[in-house]
Amino acid sequence: MRFSTIAVLLFTVAISSSVTIAQERPRLNRAVKFAENFQAAIPRATQDQAANQKIAAFRKKTGKRPNILWLVVDDMGYGDPGCYGGGAAIGAATPNIDRLARQGLKLTSCYSQQTCTPTRSAILTGRLPVRTGLIRPILAGDKLTKNPWSNEVSLAKLLSASGYYTLLTGKWHIGELQGMRPHDIGFDEFYGYYPAQKEISQRFDPRRYPDLVDDPEKLAAFDVIAPDNHLTHGFKGGPTRQLQAVTSTTDMGRADKVLADFSIKRIKELAKGNQPFFIEHCFMKVHCDNFPNPDLGSLSEAKYYYKEAVAEVDLHIGEIMKTLDQAGILENTFVFVTSDNGPQMDGWPDAGYTPFRGAKGTTFEGGVRVPGIAYWKGMIQPGRESNGLFDLMDLFGVSLHLAGVSTDQLPAKHYYDFIDQTSFLLDNAGQSKRDSVYFWWGNQLMACRLREYKIHVKVVLPETPHMQIDYATVREVGLAPWLFNLYIDPKEQLPVGHRRNAWLATLGATLKAHAATFKKYPPKDIGLGQ
Ligand code: CA
Repeated sequence: MRFSTIAVLLFTVAISSSVTIAQERPRLNRAVKFAENFQAAIPRATQDQAANQKIAAFRKKTGKRPNILWLVVDDMGYGDPGCYGGGAAIGAATPNIDRLARQGLKLTSCYSQQTCTPTRSAILTGRLPVRTGLIRPILAGDKLTKNPWSNEVSLAKLLSASGYYTLLTGKWHIGELQGMRPHDIGFDEFYGYYPAQKEISQRFDPRRYPDLVDDPEKLAAFDVIAPDNHLTHGFKGGPTRQLQAVTSTTDMGRADKVLADFSIKRIKELAKGNQPFFIEHCFMKVHCDNFPNPDLGSLSEAKYYYKEAVAEVDLHIGEIMKTLDQAGILENTFVFVTSDNGPQMDGWPDAGYTPFRGAKGTTFEGGVRVPGIAYWKGMIQPGRESNGLFDLMDLFGVSLHLAGVSTDQLPAKHYYDFIDQTSFLLDNAGQSKRDSVYFWWGNQLMACRLREYKIHVKVVLPETPHMQIDYATVREVGLAPWLFNLYIDPKEQLPVGHRRNAWLATLGATLKAHAATFKKYPPKDIGLGQ
């Protein structure tokens, strides 16, 4: 810094009050607290104003609030879609997802939790799983000690109360007991399955589970604890019907077509009315175990079931988007495409691709960095791409904002981890308001990313290559936390450590400040262990 610059700075300091000096001093962590129980955010007043003007113009033009459509794929890897480096190059073209990325905003630093249930609950509550107790997938035989939803306020509940029609189609995976089903926690309608594909198909797939399927005694014992294998149709305050059961691998292969057809039917119906909708369409695919849909023929060049599943999901996304267009509501609908976590490598080759270290079940980038595409014709400028941080929980804040629902309705006794990123997504020059993302594994705080730096205080390490869930251990790091610069080392292999980086203490302090929020807002234990 030149002397004249220093002199100017000193002069500026001299004429400012001491309080102002403290606030204006440059910090690596630019986020500012605006309420004690909300995640700190980077102030971006200009883009907030621009986005609000855009929304006001939309409301004036259409006289409506926008529809909100989330398309959530299960276990799809960051590197699977073509627009993220996969696609045809790795044997399964994804022209429809790629088109949305080209015509919308492609996020390259979009984060999920490291497994299904945690992400799915976090995006509907705006809260980290450790706060709600939904810290790991609910599996066959699990006995919960309390209903996590009893004192949570879901996005679906808030949107439904504000006049939206709220529908969850497809995989739920946040509890199948009464009180925990989608239509118990705020959705007006649920049409889908409670568990993941593998939880259902282990009942009848002798190739993978011969010890179970070919042994009547074990099969009878399994049936006592097995998750529901029915397509379920439920209404808030109304009946819950069990429709067809999935009893074969071909049934399983057909499931996503049935679900896509249902969302398409509902979109057509809802487009005719005046009520805006929130649809969370959750694919069963591409979570293992994948089975091809015999009615669709081969869809991928690779032919592997996983690749067929990626191509099928892309096909359905294309059909759903075509429906919005034909129903005349493409310009009225905010669409977000993502995956609920990284690829599950334990199921390889029925597994996705990530260019990053780790996979589902770890807090390395491979487990938590996922595709994220925001599309809204006429409202999100085509061709945008951003490496700004986005946590999928931020969808909670964006959706409330788009629906015009105030965060004042959220209980003051809860801590909220989402950030309202509406202006990041809508303003043509929008930048992320999120400076940090926190990574948990069960009830253990593992890591955080601040800008391009990521610090690990605990890590999930596979004991044999790629077995990131079934043969992995959680370990504490040594004297120095593992610190990576993701811009020069996206695969997290070359720690910059305490020798080479000025920010170790800053990231440590950021992590500690996050941990401190749990003193006043303690985590909830619902009996999922860890
Ligand atoms: Ca998943």
